Amino acid sequence: MPELPEVRTVANFLNKNLVNKIILKTECFFEKMVWRNELKDFIKKTENQKILKVSNYGKYLMFELASQIMISHLRMEGKWSITSKEVNIYNKNHLRLQFELSDGEYLKYYDSRKFGTIEIWNKDEYLEKSKMDKLGPEPLNNQPPFEYLKAKAEKSNMLIKAFILDQSILCGIGNIYANEILFSAKINPERSTKSLTDKELKLIIKYSNEILQKAIDMKGTSIHSYKSGDGEIGQFQNELNVHLRKDDECFICGSKIIKKQVAGRGTYICLKCQK
Ligand SMILES: [Zn+2]
Repeated sequence: MPELPEVRTVANFLNKNLVNKIILKTECFFEKMVWRNELKDFIKKTENQKILKVSNYGKYLMFELASQIMISHLRMEGKWSITSKEVNIYNKNHLRLQFELSDGEYLKYYDSRKFGTIEIWNKDEYLEKSKMDKLGPEPLNNQPPFEYLKAKAEKSNMLIKAFILDQSILCGIGNIYANEILFSAKINPERSTKSLTDKELKLIIKYSNEILQKAIDMKGTSIHSYKSGDGEIGQFQNELNVHLRKDDECFICGSKIIKKQVAGRGTYICLKCQK
C-alpha cells in the first residue's frame, strides 16, 4: 500500500502535469469507487472544472478545483497516470476512471484490487465530510510536537506498532515505514505504548521525520507494484534496514532479522537491537 512518501511523489507528478488543465469529460467504469457521493453528482461536479492544484495529506491525494476538492485514496493498488486516450501504462482491464483533459490528454485511474476510493466536496466542508479532520499530523517538518505524542501515548492501550500505524495519531505511516522507524529507534514493536520513555517518544518523532523525508526525496519505495506516476521507480527500497529482510543479518549487530505478525501486519524485528 502506498504510504505518505509514495503518495507525495504521485501528488508532485500530478501537480506538475495537471495545473490549469480543464476536465472536459468524466467517465467511471466502477461505480462503487465513488465514495459518499452519487456518481451522477460526481460527474457533474468534475466536468468543466479547472484543476488548480494537486497535493496530498498523508495517504490522501487532493485535487483542488475552483470550489471543490476531489479526494482520492489509493488503498492497496490504486495508480494514476496521464497519457493519450489509447495508451495504457498499466493493465487496461484495471482502468476504473478517466478524465478527458483540455489539452487532449487523459488522466486515468487504475486499480487491480478495487479498494481505492474517490469523493468530492465543497472546499468549506471537505475536511469534515471526508473525515480527514480526524487525521493526526504528518510526521514531517519536526511535527508532531513531543507534548502531542506524549499525551496520545499516555491514553493509549495499543502496542507501539499499532499506535504509529493509527492515522488519527500520526498520518501517513504504513507498514513499511513503521517497521523502519521502530528499527531505527531501537524499539520492539510489541511493547505497549504506555511503556515508552520520553526519550523513546522523541526518537519516534525524530526517525519518522528523517525516514519519511528521505523516502520522499528518493521518490518512495518501489515494492509490489507502486510507481511514481510517470512510471519512474522510487529508490527507497535500497535503503530499507529491516523491512523484507527476514533471516538476513542485522546491519548493526549481525543477528538474524525475524518476521512475525504484530498488530495484524508483517513485522520485521532485530530482537537484539530493538528492546
Ligand atoms: Zn541488530
